[in-house]
Amino acid sequence: MTTPSSSSLPASRLITELQSFGVRLADPRAGAPSRRGGAGPSDHKAMTVDGRTVMVPVHTAGAFSSPYIAEPPGADGASLVRRDGVAMGRVTFPRQPRFHALQTMDGIPYSKIAVLHGADVLATTVLQTCIRYQSRTKTCQFCSIGQSLAAGRTIARKTPEQLAEVARAAVLLDGVRHMVMTTGTPATPDRGAAILCESAAAVKAAVDLPIQGQCEPPDDDRWFARLRDAGIDTLGMHLEAVTPEVRARIMPGKASVPLERYYSAFEAAVPVFGRGQVSTYILAGLGDSREAILAMAERLIGMGVYPFVVPFVPVSGTPLEDHPAPPPAFMHDLLSAVGGMLKRAGMRASDSKAGCGKCGACSALSLFED
Ligand code: SF4
Repeated sequence: MTTPSSSSLPASRLITELQSFGVRLADPRAGAPSRRGGAGPSDHKAMTVDGRTVMVPVHTAGAFSSPYIAEPPGADGASLVRRDGVAMGRVTFPRQPRFHALQTMDGIPYSKIAVLHGADVLATTVLQTCIRYQSRTKTCQFCSIGQSLAAGRTIARKTPEQLAEVARAAVLLDGVRHMVMTTGTPATPDRGAAILCESAAAVKAAVDLPIQGQCEPPDDDRWFARLRDAGIDTLGMHLEAVTPEVRARIMPGKASVPLERYYSAFEAAVPVFGRGQVSTYILAGLGDSREAILAMAERLIGMGVYPFVVPFVPVSGTPLEDHPAPPPAFMHDLLSAVGGMLKRAGMRASDSKAGCGKCGACSALSLFED
């Protein structure tokens, strides 16, 4: 008999296939509720493959026609995944976290303040509005930060007190082990760094939880020491796309911060946070070639920056909802090449103190570091 954690495809292969194609769910109620809209992985559901929790698209147009279907979970909680009728592996679904059922004294559900990502990450978007999201011509074409706000599934501004309260509960009730704090970009030169500082300080005063802050490069490098001193352990400054042409096309507003500023910000931030504790998100499948992404990854690793390469997911309701996800073979080849670079450089996701690289639910990259 096959155990729930075993799969007939190697885990790295099954994960890249599921993240590229998405999966149809025979029982949509299985596991914790999926997310629609918002920053980070949306239109996804958390699933565990060979002991590793990953985010798999379930609400995208591609997922509705995916060749993969997950059968209803059996008595052991495991669900058989088939492709064209052939069993390809088994997945389990993480349970709904306990803290999601709580609310603040003034009646705001904790799940509108922060949610569980992956297996053990508390994730929040401190500021759910963004200067880049104000007009169709400026918005990042892949982003759905405003959708969950418009649908009432989150609140626009999470106060430091609210974040501290939810973080404490998530640690005590659900054993979360690190926290990701991202933010929409405000119309201030710090580009969100000040909001992250006050939020991190409040969380750290309430509970001992490693925190990754994520924002655009601030105007002044002195913000990096302020972020660290406030309690931010690792910092993500996300390129998303790596060539000027793709940046200008996919994220015309954010591309107004040139690549050169990202490079200088990485150079200033690595000595503050440490090698491998500064990272960037690279969305593969938006038009950057394999060679361009690998050249950028090599440059970043040389600077001590962890390049978290993730397959692009076309989120419903965004301008890119009909853009194809990258083919699994492209992702497999790309991730194995980046994984090889990381291995040679001795940089590992597991050495990161907090954040997306450590979580790894949105990309199989760390499986290729071994
Ligand atoms: S990799 Fe980052 S965005 Fe993805 S689930 Fe983990 S914490 Fe969330």
